[in-house]
Amino acid sequence: MSGPSPETKMQFLYALRSKGVTDARVLSAMEEIDRGPFIRGLFAERAYEDMPLPINCGQTISQPSVVGLMTQALQISPRDKVLEVGTGSGYQAAILSKLARRVYTIDRHRRLVHEAREIFEALDLTNVTAVTGDGSFGLPEQAPFDRIIVTAAAEDPPGPLLAQLKIGGIMVVPVGQSDAVQTLIRVRKSEDGLEYDELRPVRFVPLLEGLSREN
Ligand code: SAH
Repeated sequence: MSGPSPETKMQFLYALRSKGVTDARVLSAMEEIDRGPFIRGLFAERAYEDMPLPINCGQTISQPSVVGLMTQALQISPRDKVLEVGTGSGYQAAILSKLARRVYTIDRHRRLVHEAREIFEALDLTNVTAVTGDGSFGLPEQAPFDRIIVTAAAEDPPGPLLAQLKIGGIMVVPVGQSDAVQTLIRVRKSEDGLEYDELRPVRFVPLLEGLSREN
């Protein structure tokens, strides 16, 4: 893996900053994790553009600036245990692994989970675990979580995920119909209940029920 040229890397980071990714820890995690290995095949050469790109199983790797903004919105501390729903390529989870103590990521496509694990191993990211399953039910055996990030769009924030969030926890989730523009929502959980704020319009593939039968 040769990685991007210094110019390409600088442009990549510049695009992140110009779209509002300003958190120094998030930027340095994104500088450290090369997006290249997460994109296989035809689109690999476009890895450093600020664009979502197709990956296997008809899914997409998110746009880097959206990854940055969602990660920033989570306000992760180094002690946190984080759950990601929607492993996809594994790119988002790899970035989380640089910021959190422990990361669990779950996807309904077994193949994507296997491919992501291979990359985590190659990069020696030992604090990420990828699991095959329906992430709408969260990961009860590892709950509760300090932070939860959902990278597929739900019509409403799934109840089991809200239940698996610690008091003081934060969840970010794109909410809305799958064929329309969705809104990125941040949920904070306190003793008094849940507080929601709307962050920005986004576009994600839908959160689907059950395991994929393709694999
Ligand atoms: N975070 C990814 C991009 C996610 S694309 C990255 O960094 O590349 C959305 C992913 O959500 C897809 O891989 C899709 O298979 C997964 N997904 C959709 N519904 C799901 C569900 N109920 N449980 C787990 N994963 C789901």
